Amino acid sequence: MGFFDKIKKAFTGDEEETKVDETTEKYEKGLEKTRKTFSEKMNELFANFRTVDEDFFDELEEALIGADVGFDTAIKITEELRQEVKLRNVKKSGEVQNAIIEKLVSMYESEGADEQNSLNMVEDGLTVILFVGVNGVGKTTSIGKLAYQLKNNGKKVILAAADTFRAGAIDQLLVWGERSGVEVVRGKAGGDPAAVVYDAIEKAIAEQADVLLVDTAGRLQNKVNLMKELEKIKRVIQREIPEAPQEVLLVLDATTGQNALVQARQFKETTDVTGLVLSKLDGTAKGGIVLAIRNELHLPVKLVGLGEGLDDLEIFEPTEFVYGLFNELLDPTVSEPQE
Ligand code: GDP
Ligand code: MG
Repeated sequence: MGFFDKIKKAFTGDEEETKVDETTEKYEKGLEKTRKTFSEKMNELFANFRTVDEDFFDELEEALIGADVGFDTAIKITEELRQEVKLRNVKKSGEVQNAIIEKLVSMYESEGADEQNSLNMVEDGLTVILFVGVNGVGKTTSIGKLAYQLKNNGKKVILAAADTFRAGAIDQLLVWGERSGVEVVRGKAGGDPAAVVYDAIEKAIAEQADVLLVDTAGRLQNKVNLMKELEKIKRVIQREIPEAPQEVLLVLDATTGQNALVQARQFKETTDVTGLVLSKLDGTAKGGIVLAIRNELHLPVKLVGLGEGLDDLEIFEPTEFVYGLFNELLDPTVSEPQE
C-alpha cells in the first residue's frame, strides 16, 4: 500500500471512524507549532525555487535540520532525493514536495521494522511499567494520563511514588491518582525508592491489579547513583516477578530538541530502555525530533504527550504523526490517488 493510500485509509476507514477523527484532531492540534514552522520554511523554499538545483537541495537540507529531524537524517533524505530527481528527471520543485514526505514516512517505517511499537502488556496478570527520565520531562504527568486511560479501559491500576527525592513529587503523583481515581503507594520523602516499589508490587499482586506504573526520580547530575537506584528498583521487581518490568519507558521532553537526543543516548548506555514517551509535542516546533530519535537511536516512540490534560496522551502512530506534521504541505494535485 502506498503512502497516500495509507493516509486515506487511516482517515476514511469505516470502523472506529469517530475514534480516528478524534486522534487525528489531537495530533493536528498537538503538532501545530512544528507544522507551522516547518510548513513556512518549506513553502518559502518552494516559492523561491522554481527549478530543482544544487541550491535547492542545500536549502532543503537546512530546513530539515531546522525541524530537528537530525543531521544524519537530513543529509540522507536530501541525498536520496537528489538521486531520485536525477533518475526521474524532475525539474519543478513542486513535484519534489510529496516525495519528501513519502521519504520521511518510509524511512521511519524501515528503520523501525524490527521494533515493537505498541506497549508490551501482559494479557492475564500484572504488567509493570517503569518510567525514567531527568527532572521535569513529564514522567509524573504521563503516568497520570496513562493511569486515567487504562482505568477507563477497565484496568485496575496502581501507582508507585518511587520518586522519593522531593516531597513535592509524591504529592504531585497523589493529585494525579485522585484525578484518575487510582490508588497510589507511597513512602516517606527521602526514603528508599526500592522499598516503595516493593510495597507497591506486593499490593498489586494481592489485589490482582492489571498494571503497576512506577514513577522514579531523575537526578542526572548524579548519574551513577541514579542508575544504581534504577537497577535496585528493577531487582526488587524481578525478585517478585522475574519477567517484569515489561516496559522501561524513557520520558523525553520534545521541546528540548537535540538535548532530548543526548539524554536518550545517556540512558540507553546504562539502562535497558524499551521505548520512549515523547512529551510536550504540543509546545514545540521541533517535532521532527521523533524521526531523529528513531533513525539514530533505534528506540521506538510508544506514547506521545500532546497537552496537559488527562486525555492528552496518545499511542504513537507514525502515519498520523507525519500527516500531522506535513498535511498542509501535501500537494493534492499530485497526491490524488489513481482509481
Ligand atoms: P517529571 O519531573 O518528569 O515528573 O515531570 P512532570 O510530570 O512534573 O512535568 C513537568 C511539567 O511539564 C509540568 O508542568 C507538566 O504539566 C508539563 N507537561 C508534561 N507533559 C506535557 C505535555 O504533553 N504537554 C504540555 N504542554 N505540558 C506537559
Ligand atoms: Mg515527577
